[in-house]
Amino acid sequence: MIEVLDPVRCTSCNICVRVCPTNVFDAVEGDIPVIARHSDCQTCFQCEAWCPADAIFVSPSRTPEPDGSPLRDGEALAARNLLGLYRDRVGWRRGTTSASENLPSTDDYHVWATPLPEGAPR
Ligand code: SF4
Ligand code: SF4
Repeated sequence: MIEVLDPVRCTSCNICVRVCPTNVFDAVEGDIPVIARHSDCQTCFQCEAWCPADAIFVSPSRTPEPDGSPLRDGEALAARNLLGLYRDRVGWRRGTTSASENLPSTDDYHVWATPLPEGAPR
């Protein structure tokens, strides 16, 4: 699910508002969009792929990350270059090339986040 829309990086282009298939975002006149319907997110990664400012992070989980998770922390994600990771891996970030084998795995995120329980699917 989408977890972060970074207010520092966001340029208010509203591309994410337009591409989201489930209308998760609301555009705000003169400001950045807001995540208005978090529970409607279907984890399709389209907003992250399209965001030209690498301002969005979609967690690979289909359920919300818990309070305190580093996957909800924009600064922590930015420090680890995880904001816009999906855009990078599909080759949509300028200077990158598409390669399906480069798509993020859950290890990309969970290697530094809260460890998964023993035996949990990855
Ligand atoms: S696509 Fe990215 S830069 Fe544009 S409004 Fe959405 S979060 Fe902000
Ligand atoms: S991941 Fe897909 S469904 Fe979720 S907010 Fe982004 S575009 Fe919308």
